[in-house]
Amino acid sequence: MEMKYKAYTLQNYRQISAMGKLSKERIFAIETVGGVLPFKTNNYVTEKLIDWDNYENDPMFILNFPQKDMLKPTHFKAYAAALSGGEEKAQLKKISNNIREQLNPHPAGQVDLNVPEMNGRKLMGIQHKYKETVLFFPAQGQTCHAYCTFCFRWPQFGGANQLKFAMKQADLLVNYVKENKGVTDVLLTGGDPMTMPAKFLKTYVDALLDANIDHLNTIRIGTKSLSFWPYRYLTDGDSDAILEIFESITKKGKHLSLMAHINHPVELSTPEIKQAIARIQATGAVIRTQSPLLKHINAKPEIWTDMWKTQVNLGIVPYYMFVARETGAQHYFAIPLGEASEIFRQAYSKVSGICRTVRGPSMSANPGKVQVNGISEINGEKVFILEFIQARKSAWVGRPFIAKYDEDATWLNQLKPAFSQHKFFFEKEFEKMLASAETHRNKSDSVLSYSS
Ligand SMILES: *Cc1c(COP(=O)(O)O)cnc(C)c1O
Ligand code: SF4
Repeated sequence: MEMKYKAYTLQNYRQISAMGKLSKERIFAIETVGGVLPFKTNNYVTEKLIDWDNYENDPMFILNFPQKDMLKPTHFKAYAAALSGGEEKAQLKKISNNIREQLNPHPAGQVDLNVPEMNGRKLMGIQHKYKETVLFFPAQGQTCHAYCTFCFRWPQFGGANQLKFAMKQADLLVNYVKENKGVTDVLLTGGDPMTMPAKFLKTYVDALLDANIDHLNTIRIGTKSLSFWPYRYLTDGDSDAILEIFESITKKGKHLSLMAHINHPVELSTPEIKQAIARIQATGAVIRTQSPLLKHINAKPEIWTDMWKTQVNLGIVPYYMFVARETGAQHYFAIPLGEASEIFRQAYSKVSGICRTVRGPSMSANPGKVQVNGISEINGEKVFILEFIQARKSAWVGRPFIAKYDEDATWLNQLKPAFSQHKFFFEKEFEKMLASAETHRNKSDSVLSYSS
């Protein structure tokens, strides 16, 4: 069980032998959509996960390869015309950037509201939205072993790469966590932090552990590597070093939670992933999973039932079902909230309590993570029952609120309060937060920024 990593992008994907099965139109669609949204896959995905005999409906193919309808028809036409017209690279890039700007590249206030400050300066590698958990974006982990076509992080791929930068960044993180005593969790995220060489991961983890921060309980690592490149934990040159780092966390008495992105049960089926899971668990780490609900990939209750049961069999804890975010190819993947709630309910009702650690469907919206608890009818009005499972203000958490049922709505901002109310209970306060962020903007400089 060994494989040497090989990435495929627009530049070299024609080397994949299965490409011979694709029609000319398909290839053209890949190159058109791939010119606007990032495209990258790898040899494990193409050789072990994709079912090429049924690629048109194969969830793993759709998860990695650009599909025509991922761009809206006008955008597709515009870029396709430029591409077949033989436009120069610079011009193509301009058109592509223009389309990308229209795809809501920074949803949910990620830059304005979530980037914290210390001594009047913005800390660009850090996001802090919910009191207990700080998100940390190590500069060296801002890529992935393969890119998911639904991804909302697509604008941030690419970045700087130096150990010195890592140490400086680690220092800031540690100081920030030390100063914020309410922080119990640090979540390393990306991109995919597990694309980093072990020596970078060690720099960050050692800095956190050596600082002996009592209020820090948990280190989480958000990653897709488990299913897109399980060799990260098996046969990569520094796999053993990675596992030693994991063990150093649990030996220090901290909880290590690997937040694995698993979108479909097929990802859990290979001997490689099973072995990787076992090796990770042997370090004392707990693996939890999350995935958005995605049309064309996993929009059936049976898929989720299967996924959760398989995870429990493997000792993995189901954690979140998300609603696809309002960015990039959302129109292609989006499932209306009513349908999402129904899929969740049907899947949830068919598993034992051990699988019901999962929460969702949940929208990571600007004010917080809003879970659709269900659909109900109150005094003859059909409604959504909603609840914050995470919020910018802790006091909002766990207070059910009610919206008019809307069968087309795909996101919180499309919902209206039920029963002739004008606003949801949190809206006034949230508007104040937005206004104060607005006046504050431009007043501070960034300390670190990895986008040039
Ligand atoms: C989901 C999320 C977290 C973690 O929330 P938990 O409920 O603790 O899992 C932290 N920060 C952001 C921005 C998130 O979206
Ligand atoms: S692995 Fe995560 S960050 Fe990377 S493309 Fe997929 S969803 Fe996005």
